[in-house]
Amino acid sequence: MFDAASTYLDLPDVFYSSVHPRKASKPRLVVVNTALAAELGMVLGDEPTQANWFSGNVLPIGATPFAQAYAGHQFGHFTVLGDGRAIMLGEYVLENGTRVDIQLKGAGKTPYSRNGDGLAALGPMLREYIISEAMAHLGIPTTRSLAVTTTGDMVRRETIQLGAVLTRVAASHIRVGTFQFAALQQDARLTQSLVDYTLARHYPEYIGQENSAAALLQAVMYRQVDLIVAWMRVGFVHGVMNTDNMSIAGETIDYGPCAFIDAYDPQAVFSSIDAQGRYAFANQPVIAQWNLARFAESLLPLIEIDQAREIIDSFSDLFRTRWLTMMGSKLGMTNADEADAKLIQQLLDWMHHNGVDYTNTFRELDTISGLEDWRVRWHQHLARQGISLEDAKRNMHQVNPAVIPRNHQVERVLRAVNDAGFVDVLQEFLDVLSSPYQDMPADTPYCQPPLADEVVHQTFCGT
Ligand code: AMP
Ligand code: MG
Repeated sequence: MFDAASTYLDLPDVFYSSVHPRKASKPRLVVVNTALAAELGMVLGDEPTQANWFSGNVLPIGATPFAQAYAGHQFGHFTVLGDGRAIMLGEYVLENGTRVDIQLKGAGKTPYSRNGDGLAALGPMLREYIISEAMAHLGIPTTRSLAVTTTGDMVRRETIQLGAVLTRVAASHIRVGTFQFAALQQDARLTQSLVDYTLARHYPEYIGQENSAAALLQAVMYRQVDLIVAWMRVGFVHGVMNTDNMSIAGETIDYGPCAFIDAYDPQAVFSSIDAQGRYAFANQPVIAQWNLARFAESLLPLIEIDQAREIIDSFSDLFRTRWLTMMGSKLGMTNADEADAKLIQQLLDWMHHNGVDYTNTFRELDTISGLEDWRVRWHQHLARQGISLEDAKRNMHQVNPAVIPRNHQVERVLRAVNDAGFVDVLQEFLDVLSSPYQDMPADTPYCQPPLADEVVHQTFCGT
């Protein structure tokens, strides 16, 4: 599959532990992402070979697998964590020199497993595969999913379920929590080594600035702002924005209880464990800023507190500007500003008040009933900016998806695979999600909001 040394292992060894994936008794390939493999330039063997690779039964030549150490604030509480059910196979280098992590999720215990079994069930791994690939096709930075295999071994959750391994591809798995773990060691040289490594790997254009830690903080903030703005464009609720689930490379990572909103509701929460609504849809920017403040704290030996504060304080204005531009683009505007903000807010309020579908409203702005007065004002805003309705509509079709992985569809597909092994149902869903901006026949079930009895109210981590 690949044959590359992991540069991560050049870091001081507190940052990882060597560990071997567990043997799967009967590895079987459920789904493999041949499009992604081709994109990566990765040559896959025959099906048994793939089942062996993607379950961790056979290691790629030269692989020295390891688990990463990290810490993190989970729902506001600090804990020492680490890869408890994920094992890095190694780094794969693309033809253009880009280096990505290849990681197995659910491949057995590691020194960081605490009381966990290091395993994963098929349902949650397929869920991550479906949603992460949908996110990628929506044009949102994300970890990718290369394959899911079943292991042939059972895992104990609320019920006994078939075990599975997800092969995850990521720019890297360095998290805010990795820096928190470094800070915990109380040795600024460790933090500096992680800063240097991260800059070289993800932000080489920032190398050479006067203060490397400040440069990194700034760079990470820009990417996080863009990421959260992108989530809000498509109605994504991450659900578990703990600092250990915040990627320094700015990718969406850790698809646990995440979900897309159907009816627009800024307070939407799906995760069964988020009782306080800490990670509600509209709270995501506030939480991203809070997480960045924890990141800044972990860099404090290397950066003046005033400088850190200044960067963190600039988050709100930057977010507001980027969010306005994004929301404007959903209305076909090229450069929305505060003058358009009221128009945007009126639309959101109308959707909220009427419990209207977020995704479909933006696809049907031109015809949806109940918006007649608003539409007149919208056309005036466009005219004032010299944008024709045709141009607006064309641009809107590139930012407003026709199809998202709606929760009730995700559940339906997972049930079909889990109960009856209907992999063709999964493949059809993945195909639909692979071109989310294309017009779909209006009656396709994939574009329909859930009926009252189909609404998914809660999602679960599945750990
Ligand atoms: P998550 O909620 O997926 O971000 O996981 C939080 C922490 O719990 C991480 O350190 C995971 O590695 C760990 N964890 C989650 N599930 C398991 C499991 N089944 N076995 C061991 N550790 C786990
Ligand atoms: Mg996590």
